[in-house]
Amino acid sequence: MKTIRLFDEDAFIKEFEAQVLSCEMQGKRFAVVLDQTAFFPEGGGQPADCGTLGGVPVLDVQEKEGVIFHFLKSALAGTVQGVLDWEKRFSRMQNHSGEHLVSGIIHRHTGADNISFSLSDTETTLAFNVPLSAELLAQVEREANAAVFEDVPIAARYPSAQELESLTYRSKLELTEHVRIVSIEGYDVCACCAPHCARTGQIGLIKIVQSESYKGGTKLWIQCGFRALEQYDMLLQQAKDISHLLCAKLERIAPAVEKLKGAKEQAEYDLVGLRRKRIAEAVAAVEPTAGNYLALCAFTGDELRLFAQGLKEKVGGIIVVLEGDDSSGYRYVISAKETEIMPLVKEANAALGGKGGGRDNMARGSFCAPLEQIKAFFAM
Ligand SMILES: [Zn+2]
Repeated sequence: MKTIRLFDEDAFIKEFEAQVLSCEMQGKRFAVVLDQTAFFPEGGGQPADCGTLGGVPVLDVQEKEGVIFHFLKSALAGTVQGVLDWEKRFSRMQNHSGEHLVSGIIHRHTGADNISFSLSDTETTLAFNVPLSAELLAQVEREANAAVFEDVPIAARYPSAQELESLTYRSKLELTEHVRIVSIEGYDVCACCAPHCARTGQIGLIKIVQSESYKGGTKLWIQCGFRALEQYDMLLQQAKDISHLLCAKLERIAPAVEKLKGAKEQAEYDLVGLRRKRIAEAVAAVEPTAGNYLALCAFTGDELRLFAQGLKEKVGGIIVVLEGDDSSGYRYVISAKETEIMPLVKEANAALGGKGGGRDNMARGSFCAPLEQIKAFFAM
C-alpha cells in the first residue's frame, strides 16, 4: 500500500500521528512503514527530512514504488508521533522554492533548461545548458527578489493525463500521469515532488552568490531566506574586521587592501636589495685565500647559498658555510670553484650524521654533529 504523503497536501505540517504498518530489520537499522507521513524522502536533488518518530531519531527516509521507508535505530509499533526538524525543512523549502523562481525566470529569458540541481544544508547549486552573462544574472536576481516581494502563491497539484499532455512545464517527464506540477503564479511551472513554500514571500532574500562555466553552460550557487541572512552576517563581520584592521571605511576596504598589497610588494623588493647588499658586504669582508674556508654565519636559507656563491671568487679551496647550533644541528652549503666537492660531501654526510647533496659543484644539506666535530672533519 502506498504511503499517504502528507507533505504533498500541506508542506507546513510539522507534527503528525501515524500507524506503523511494518517494521523490519534491514542491516543494522529498522525500516518503518507508516500509513501516512510528513517526512519527505530523499529525491529530486533534495535530502530526506530529519526529525523523530516515537521519540526516536529518523536517520534516513527513502521511497520505493510509492512506499516510504523511515530508517531508525529502534523498532516502532502501534501509533507513533512524528516530529520534523522544522528549521532544517523550512530552510530547504526556502532554497528549493528560490531555485524554482530563479530557474523559471532564466528559462523565460533564455529558454535554458536546468540540467542539474542539488540542495544540501549549506549549499544550493543549479546548472543550465547555456552560458549566462553576469548582466543577465544580475537582472534575474533582481526579478526573483521582486517576485518574493510580490508574495505570489506557490501551488502543487496532479493534473489529469489529458491536461498534462497540453501543459507546458519545465522538467517535462515521459510520464503521462501522477506528475506533480508546482506553479509559481506568473513565474514558473515545473514538475517536482518536493515540499515548497506556500507563497514566494516565505522564501525571503534570494542571492546568486557564485557562477561558473559548466559543461558549456553555467552553474550557479544560490542562498535563500535564513541562509542568505546567515551568509550576509558572516560576510559583513569579515568586512568589518578587515575595515577595523586597515582603519578604512567599510565601503573602501578593497582599495585599502590594494594599497597595502602595493606597499608589501615595495617592501619585499627593498628587502631583496638589502639582502644582496648584506651578502656582498660579508663577501667583501673575507680575506682572499688559496686554501679552504669554513664559517658559521647568520645567513639562512637561500642567503647562505648566495654567500657561498660569492665566496667562489675569493676562496681557492673548498667553501663550507654553516648556520645553526649544536642543539638543533647545522644547515650547510658546500662549494668550490675548481675542486670536485661531491666525494667529500658524501664522506662528510657519513661522518657527521648528515644528509643532502647538490649539483653544479654546490651542495646543500644538514649535519647532525657538534660544531667542533664538523671543524675537525674538515680540519680547517
Ligand atoms: Zn521543487
